[in-house]
Amino acid sequence: MGIKFGGIESGGTKFVCAIGSGPDDLTEVKIIPTGKPDETISEVIEFFDPFNSNDSLEAIGISSFGPLDLDHDSATHGYIKATPHRETAKKDWVEIDLLGPIKRAINVPITLDTDVNGAAIGEHRWGAGNGYDNLIYITVGTGVGGGAIVNGRIAHGLIHPEMGHMRVPHDWKADPFPGRCPFHGDCVQGLANAPAIEERWGARCDELPDDHPAWDLEAYYLSLMVSNLVFSLSPEILILGGGVMQRNQLITKIQANVSKFLGGYVQSDRVINNIDSFVVLPGLGSMSGVLGGIAMAQDLVRD
Ligand code: ZN
Repeated sequence: MGIKFGGIESGGTKFVCAIGSGPDDLTEVKIIPTGKPDETISEVIEFFDPFNSNDSLEAIGISSFGPLDLDHDSATHGYIKATPHRETAKKDWVEIDLLGPIKRAINVPITLDTDVNGAAIGEHRWGAGNGYDNLIYITVGTGVGGGAIVNGRIAHGLIHPEMGHMRVPHDWKADPFPGRCPFHGDCVQGLANAPAIEERWGARCDELPDDHPAWDLEAYYLSLMVSNLVFSLSPEILILGGGVMQRNQLITKIQANVSKFLGGYVQSDRVINNIDSFVVLPGLGSMSGVLGGIAMAQDLVRD
């Protein structure tokens, strides 16, 4: 067996674990429902253990929900910190050491980044962002978040970007829903994540028909976020993934709004004539995060 890399994408409902070296070479993939931290982490270790034991595993990359402590000098490096998702399994994962137990059990180099940074890295290496060294990946699901690749490198900073918590105009008359982010109320995540859609309209996302006004409002908030990011970071492409983005026509509505909100100010052919190749769905489907983990693992031993 050749040398392989491990990828983990941790989320509020599931952990996706994979072994391989890219989208066309995944030897094994396992989905583990997110439960109590101890039990879930043990199952993750169990998945990787055989590959560790026969020395076929070179490194692991983890794309995790957060916020995460990514400071290598911190005593809680690799921990999941405060979560804004108090209603999902994530509520049990506050101040939890995710990296430590896996590092102690699996004797290979392991690195960790946020789920959206991981997805951005995956899409850059193999997906819709391949060939673009300045890109943004946004996820819209239980949370809303974004990761940026700038000049070919993932952007970190003080902690890590939390694009989903940016503030956007909120017309309280048109949308009296107060938002549900426990930290900010009506930030983008508070207004536009899947639980916000469901609470505002009193129905699950999959019960809302395509012509429901929910989708125009959802596209409106996400388009404001996308437009702000275009002005802030000048990405060459923006990739929107996550469960909510699988909705028919949502990406088309966002493309139309973004064109309008940019107001003809960004003089690029990609914006003016090719908005449908500028604001796009992921090339790797739902596998961007776990493949990003594999890409991070490869970078870790190649750097
Ligand atoms: Zn917020």
